[in-house]
Amino acid sequence: MVGTWNTATPSSNHHPSATQQYQAIITTICTLVTQCETQLNQFDLPLGIGIPGAISLKTGTIKNANTVCLIGQDLASDLSDQLNRSVKIENDANCFALSEAVDGAGKDMNTVFAVILGTGVGGGWVINKHLHIGSNAIAGEWGHNPLPFPSDHDLPKQTCYCGKAACIETYLSGPGFSQQTHLQFQYKASCPEIIEASTHTQHPFHQAAKKSYQLYVDRLARSLASVINIMDPDVIVLGGGVSNANALYEDVKRVWHPYIFSDSINTQLVKNVHGDSSGVRGAAWLNMDRFNS
Ligand SMILES: [Zn+2]
Repeated sequence: MVGTWNTATPSSNHHPSATQQYQAIITTICTLVTQCETQLNQFDLPLGIGIPGAISLKTGTIKNANTVCLIGQDLASDLSDQLNRSVKIENDANCFALSEAVDGAGKDMNTVFAVILGTGVGGGWVINKHLHIGSNAIAGEWGHNPLPFPSDHDLPKQTCYCGKAACIETYLSGPGFSQQTHLQFQYKASCPEIIEASTHTQHPFHQAAKKSYQLYVDRLARSLASVINIMDPDVIVLGGGVSNANALYEDVKRVWHPYIFSDSINTQLVKNVHGDSSGVRGAAWLNMDRFNS
């Protein structure tokens, strides 16, 4: 089976229309599949794809995608027509959750919440090795809940692409972290640069980076606590670019207790096992019925 990310957004100086961008994505995926099959010398394999967004149960087309040119498109059908094969599409965080729950960081756990802290913030649930998609196909979409327990330290609020303000994603995504650091501490840097500066006392922006990182940790703790209070998972697995900050795990666990409604906390917070390719593995498994609910 072939798994691929659908993240190709063409860059151009003449601002291609949403339709042109969508067509470019279709072309890119078809090219990737052909290249893959040629390398593997295996053909007509079923295709699984992880996308930012979900399939609307009402229309059968894509909704909630931060690659907005996908919204309203029937990607599975269009790719199936072009490639002449079965195409299964699932939310990228759900694919990641499946990969980590089956044989990754959550393999010994019954209830797995897998989180992507990347260009966006997504989440997926796997319960007893089955993907839980939900009645509205939005299970795990915590990134567009408002930041819990907000205070003046969380100002200014940023408007999210979804139309609301102060969504968790506007604080906890890589770009959100970067933007908050810029707005609150006048330090303009990428997420890895901020984390690096927060650990080096000689860095000219050390204090700013450290304060912003501590705020990030507290916001992540609050946001995960609100998930724990509802679903009480055995393990939370982090993925996406921000999850590469190794100190994050212990730092969050040090501050999340006051936000969790329990005298003790058994929920584990761990890094993914399968790295940047984890979601692609999960996407490749979408055509295996035993993993689907
Ligand atoms: Zn939002």
